[in-house]
Amino acid sequence: MPTLFDLAGKVAIVTGANTGIGQAIAVSLAEAGADIAAVGRTPAEDTVARVRALGCRAEIISADLSSIAPVQRIVDEVLEKFGGLDILVNNAGIIRRADSIDFTEADWDAVIDTNLKVLFFLCQAAGRHMLAQGSGKIINIASLLSFQGGVRVPSYTAAKSGVAGLTKLLANEWAAKGVNVNAIAPGYIATNNTAALQADETRNREIQERIPASRWGQASDIGGAAVFLASAAANYIHGHTLAVDGGWLAR
Ligand code: NAP
Repeated sequence: MPTLFDLAGKVAIVTGANTGIGQAIAVSLAEAGADIAAVGRTPAEDTVARVRALGCRAEIISADLSSIAPVQRIVDEVLEKFGGLDILVNNAGIIRRADSIDFTEADWDAVIDTNLKVLFFLCQAAGRHMLAQGSGKIINIASLLSFQGGVRVPSYTAAKSGVAGLTKLLANEWAAKGVNVNAIAPGYIATNNTAALQADETRNREIQERIPASRWGQASDIGGAAVFLASAAANYIHGHTLAVDGGWLAR
């Protein structure tokens, strides 16, 4: 039964789909009917198996997203294997923690390259196809640090603030051409990315106490927002960064 949220027949790229939030988004999109191109450096075998078990197509596209070298090849491979591209979820990302006073150029460049530069050029490569077909949905994974400063994560805060800005810029350029560009800002989600925070007993307790929902998020908490933004239900939403944070930003 077609609904506003139906993604049957749509093809979605999800970067970093082997684990954490990317895996959860890929499975949720497939539950709504989308075929999944799982792009990343660690083969997303488990994700592909779960998507196929739902009756959708899934393929692994191997790519190291620390540089823009594979970007055009990714889009070409998806078009060749699936015959289309409707949704791009820019999820792959890394974080480096150190006091700003000691922060290295290597930790700056690594995070900016993967979380911001590659994200932009994937938007561009997918955007070329979507603009030509007159439709498409791009969902960038931002962060609470698109809104707040954070501590000891200068390149991550710069990158994620940049993601929110780029999301608005691309929406300004592409909204009238049928392409929706939006972002999701996950709150504190229990994944590899936050393993250090979860393991620090004091920080873990402080974080949990500050979250109105009174718990860390699970990766699966992000899936519904991704389905929504990828679907016709979000056709008039452009340039928005949607916080899925258990109420963190409300406090
Ligand atoms: P995660 O479990 O560490 O997943 C990160 C994903 O990015 C993995 O699939 C990883 O692949 C991939 N990736 C990193 N560098 C890559 C590269 N050079 N090439 C290809 N793939 C690469 O963390 P997560 O929490 O699910 O993070 C997903 C996104 O959500 C990130 O953008 C993160 O910044 C954002 N986010 C997370 C939280 C949170 O609380 N967890 C909050 C806000 C935003 P490998 O497994 O091969 O490393």
